[in-house]
Amino acid sequence: MDAPADPRATWGLPAAGELPRRADLEPLVTRVLAPNPSGMTLDGTNTYVVGAPGAGQAVLVDPGPDDTAHLAAVEAALADRDARCVAVLVTHHHGDHAEAALPWGAHFGAPVAAAGAAVAGPGGRLLDHGERLSLAGTTIGVVATPGHTGDHLAFRLESGAVLVGDHVLGRGTSVVTHPEGDVVAYLESLRRVHDLGPSALYCGHGPELTEDPGAVLDYYLAHRAYREHQLLTALAAGAASVEDVVATVYAEVPRSLWPAATQSTRATLAKLRAEGRVEFGPGEAVRLA
Ligand SMILES: [Zn+2]
Repeated sequence: MDAPADPRATWGLPAAGELPRRADLEPLVTRVLAPNPSGMTLDGTNTYVVGAPGAGQAVLVDPGPDDTAHLAAVEAALADRDARCVAVLVTHHHGDHAEAALPWGAHFGAPVAAAGAAVAGPGGRLLDHGERLSLAGTTIGVVATPGHTGDHLAFRLESGAVLVGDHVLGRGTSVVTHPEGDVVAYLESLRRVHDLGPSALYCGHGPELTEDPGAVLDYYLAHRAYREHQLLTALAAGAASVEDVVATVYAEVPRSLWPAATQSTRATLAKLRAEGRVEFGPGEAVRLA
């Protein structure tokens, strides 16, 4: 099995660190980049301001870090749209997406909506798959996309674009966290978003993907299958622990990303154990069943 090719390699997407701090992506959507770049958050967290032009209202999706400069940038984007914030939606509980949700919700006097009660807060709204939210002059569809985390949601816009949080990233691939994440659910969620036929993917980190979103989702599915194949090959070749497997499969990935790679590896091993294909123990030992 060969490594699948990333279709984005030929798209001319902005290089790391060169994503514009703010961009109007379509009449419904402005993207505001938070100043929290890192190996895991790429250029930083993308906060999306969503609303029908002229509605006088907008929704924030993934407010991101509770940072003064970021709040000022989001307020400037709202002002330029002549809009006030009427709701804060959150894709998942990780702090780089959710930290500002409750403080900014209070600041704007807007309810917070998310899949989990801890994120939505006491006055918030819990979202379920299939709901259609009428907000800011438009309709936003709630799409359950568990996998990266258990509570992960995507939001489908009237334009056909899907805000995918950390389910799909603008560059590279996402992490299936462990023990919370779930590889089987993650793959189902990729197919679920694919089935929507998205016109664009607006990612939690990195550039927006507009050229061929379906090809990126196909690549993500193929990448997971390839990693599983590599993992099984490493075990067959003598790797005997999670650490061995990560060192073999992720040999070409910077070591700073190995903790995340270890989580994805553990998540894949959990799937393979459930399928009766690997066995664990004692300790960190792992072998083919
Ligand atoms: Zn994130």
